[in-house]
Formats: sequence, structure tokens, C-alpha cells
Amino acid sequence: MDTLLKSHNRLEFLPQLHWFPEKVSNIKPTKVQNQELRFCSKRRRNGGVQVRSSALLELVPEAKKENLEYDLPMYDPSKGLVTDLAVVGGGPAGLAVAQQVAEAGLSVCLIDPSPKLIFPNNYGVWVDEFEAMNLLDCLDTTWPGAVVYVNDNTKKDLDRPYGRVNRKYLKSKMLQKCMTNGVKFHQTKVIKVIHEEDKSLLICKDGVTIKAATVLDATGFSRSLVQYDKPYNPGYQVAYGILAEVEDHPFDIDKMVFMDWRDSHLNINLDLKERNSKIPTFLYAMPFSANRIFLEETSLVARPGLPLEDIQERMVARLKHLGIRVKSIEEDEHCVIPMGGPLPVFPQRVLGIGGTAGMVHPSTGYMVARTLAAAPIVANSLVRYLGSNRSLIGNELSAQVWRDLWPKERRRQREFFCFGMDILLKLDLAATRRFFDAFFDLEPHYWHGFLSSRLFLPELIVFGLSLFAHASNTSRIEIMANGTLPLVSMINNLIKDRD
Ligand SMILES: Cc1cc2nc3c(=O)[nH]c(=O)nc-3n(C[C@H](O)[C@H](O)[C@H](O)COP(=O)(O)OP(=O)(O)OC[C@H]3O[C@@H](n4cnc5c(N)ncnc54)[C@H](O)[C@@H]3O)c2cc1C
Repeated sequence: MDTLLKSHNRLEFLPQLHWFPEKVSNIKPTKVQNQELRFCSKRRRNGGVQVRSSALLELVPEAKKENLEYDLPMYDPSKGLVTDLAVVGGGPAGLAVAQQVAEAGLSVCLIDPSPKLIFPNNYGVWVDEFEAMNLLDCLDTTWPGAVVYVNDNTKKDLDRPYGRVNRKYLKSKMLQKCMTNGVKFHQTKVIKVIHEEDKSLLICKDGVTIKAATVLDATGFSRSLVQYDKPYNPGYQVAYGILAEVEDHPFDIDKMVFMDWRDSHLNINLDLKERNSKIPTFLYAMPFSANRIFLEETSLVARPGLPLEDIQERMVARLKHLGIRVKSIEEDEHCVIPMGGPLPVFPQRVLGIGGTAGMVHPSTGYMVARTLAAAPIVANSLVRYLGSNRSLIGNELSAQVWRDLWPKERRRQREFFCFGMDILLKLDLAATRRFFDAFFDLEPHYWHGFLSSRLFLPELIVFGLSLFAHASNTSRIEIMANGTLPLVSMINNLIKDRD
């Protein structure tokens, strides 16, 4: 997330957020016993923004970044060689492509300011998504099922296993594969790319210039190199999470809490309740044991994004109401995920994958499984055109890889998901509850497929009709009232979109 904050050329969306935190993910446990939950004021270091926080947040330990202890093979700029592929960004997206392209024998240089840093985000995925990619060993905890609290009276048990990614293990595994396959690393940021007919020059912050036949931007939501030609107007998922040691909690440790939309914790604060009824937040929780739990208060999507301090206030009220007494916080997570918005210019010379290439699910904010599944598509495409017979170079090669990454059915699918996001943006708490009440009553094939980007247009239409059929009459009216304009806009975009 700090890439998002520090991006020098893509800050246009920042004013839309009322308060934009630096991403911190802290590792060391701090022990402060049973703090009473109350509010106080705190001034941010880097500006005059006055931020309220709670005593709960004072349990958050100092930010500490943990690096893996590897002796990475480093890129040698003195040789002046043209590398086949330069991957900019060492998140899941960049590492996945780098390791696979290098495995095919092509030369790859991966540039990242902190290549050994353990992934900072706490990733959650559906187990079947990781199973399909043979990555079950990268999950450190799995739950046989999940639960959704629609309101105080309606609870849905989801018979679909969920898992937490062991981000240290996943990063180690990916780095090791990169090293084995011969990827070279360069530790810095890329600030600019200059293209020539058959190669590109990557100008790095440390003064080094790297020459590469192709450039892949994998810089996440900072979108450092990939170009966009339409106004950037995403919705934002904003969430605040803590991994905490608690006295106890009310959740079943065999089920992760996918969404808890209950709001009775706000009965003592009518102002907050009113705000929550207009732009609702839910609790997402991963109970690891009776005393250890990850709790995240989440705004599914809003434009502009909900202020983080508002979310923290709701979380404190919720935990108090649930009787969850936090003894210590191991780490916290500030999460801001841009969702939807335009796709990059197609085609363009710089390639993209992951956050930078519009791959986040516009209705859910999930992406890690989709990106890891897309990495072989980009890698195979690169190997095919860049490999032994060098059938394509420069702009032609990039155009072909973009086409393989975003074929028409994927672009149509994304249009549909953006349509879903446009409806969700307009729903208040009551309507959101009715929506998810109907959504999780669908045949598993449909709700699984929607959440995991496995449904394509003909099936998505059946999904939409089926959702409509399952919805209450009130919900149908809401979907029609809020969905007609987005539907028209989706149809227009689908008609306009030509290969
Ligand atoms: C807090 C948080 C929690 C999330 N949780 C989930 C989840 O549970 N499940 C899920 O599916 N998705 C989740 N997501 C969404 C998404 O999966 C992640 O954002 C994911 O990390 C994106 O992967 P990426 O490789 O595209 O980018 P990133 O992981 O952001 O990696 C980008 C890399 O590029 C580097 N970089 C940036 N600029 C430059 C530059 N100019 N030069 C060189 N290097 C650069 C950065 O240092 C970073 O290492 C979450 C996102 C956030 C922010």
C-alpha cells in the first residue's frame, strides 16, 4: 500500500479519500492488558491532518518490516546486456511472471525497492482457488466453511472452505523459484521508461539504466508505468484490520466470518448508526483459536472511500458489543483497494499484470488468486513471441501479450463486474443485506463463480437473472432502480468494445 501512497505521478485519486493511511503491517506483539476502549486525538507525523483514534489503536506496535534472509543474485549493470524481460515490482504478480518466464530460459531482471520484504498484506482466498493452482501448501490456516450474518436474525452457512495465505512462505517459495530459474534482482525503483524500436530503457532511481526487450509493470495500485487514457474514477474498498490476542470471542473457530452485517453494536451511537445505514461496513474475521483472531472492519465499496477513522470507530464499537477484549495486537492492516475504473490503454508498449492492469475484482476487491492464475498466460505469451524464433518485437509483441491477457471474454466479464460494483455503490445497509441474502441463496456454481471470476458473459446473464429471481420484491425494485443506468452503460461499453 505504501507504493500507492508514494506514487509520484498517480495521485489524482487521493483527494477522494478523506484520510489516507500509510500501509503498516507490524510483526512484533506488544502486551498491554485489557485496555478500556475509548477515544483520544492523535496528530499524524507527515501533515496537519487531525485524526481520532482509540486506545485500542495504541496497542498497535511500531511498524516493523520483515525481510527474508536470502542472498539474491543481483543484476550487473556494468555488462550493459539487453535482458529479455524487465519486471517492475516484486509483489505476487511480478514474481509469478518472472519465475515462469525465466524457467523457459529467457533472461529476466526484477526491480523492486525491497525485493526481500515479506508480502505486507494479509491475503484470504477460497481454498478451491489455490487448490486449482497446486498452491495448498501456501495456506497456513484453512476453515472448512464460512459464515455470513445478514442481520441479527439471518445467518448463512457457506459450505466453501476458506484459507489464509502464508505470505512469508508464498514469498519464499516464489523467490526461491526465481533464484533457481536465474532471475536477477535490482533493488531500487523505476522512475521512467524510454522505448526504442526493439528495446526499452528503464531509468532507475539509483541512476542505473536497464535495457530490456520487454517491460512488465507489476507495481500494484501505484500503476507506475502503465498508461491510462480515461479519467480514473474507481470505487474504494477501505478496511482496517488487526491480528489480535483476545480474552475470548464469540465466533466458531471452524468458520471464518466472511461478512457480518449486524449493526446492533451501533444502537448506543445513533450518529454512527445513521452513517452506517447509509454507507455500511461489515466485519470480516479469521478466528485462529479461542484467543487469537484477525478482525477487519470493511467498507465493501464506496466512492469516495470511507474515512479510515470512521471505520476504526465502528470497529471499536463492534468489538465492545461482541464482548471482545483485546489483550494485544500483533499487527494491523490499513487497506485501500481501488476497484473498477477504466482498463489501461490497449495495446501499449509496457505490459501490465495485477493491480496495475485492472485485474482486481471490481465487485469484491479480491485479486491475488486471479493474478496468480493469469501469470502463466502472460508468461506463456511472452515466451512464445520472445523465445527462440523472436517472432515479434516491440509494439507488436506487446499488443499480442495484452490481447492474451485481456481477451474479449475477460473484458466483458469485467464490464459485468463493474456493473455489479455500480449497483453495490448505491445500496444502503438495508438494501445491501437484501442483496447478499439473495446472492448467497444462489446455486453455489453461480456465487462461487462470480466471486472467483470463473463465470463469463452467457453464464453471467443467467447469474443476474437468477439473482433477480431469488431477490425479494423490495430488492428487485432496488436492483431495477439502482441498476438501470449502470446496465445501459454496461451495454454501451460492450457494444463499443471491439478487438
Ligand atoms: C491491505 C490489502 C489487503 C488485501 N487483501 C487481499 C485478500 O485478502 N485477497 C485478495 O485476493 N486480494 C487482496 N488484496 C488485493 C490484491 O490482491 C493485493 O493488492 C496484491 O498485493 C496485488 O498484487 P500485485 O503484485 O499486483 O501488487 P503489490 O503486491 O502491491 O506489489 C507491487 C510491488 O511493486 C513495487 N513497486 C511499486 N512501484 C515501483 C516502482 N516504481 N519500481 C519498482 N518497484 C515498484 C512495490 O514495492 C511492491 O513490492 C489486498 C490488498 C491490500 C492493499
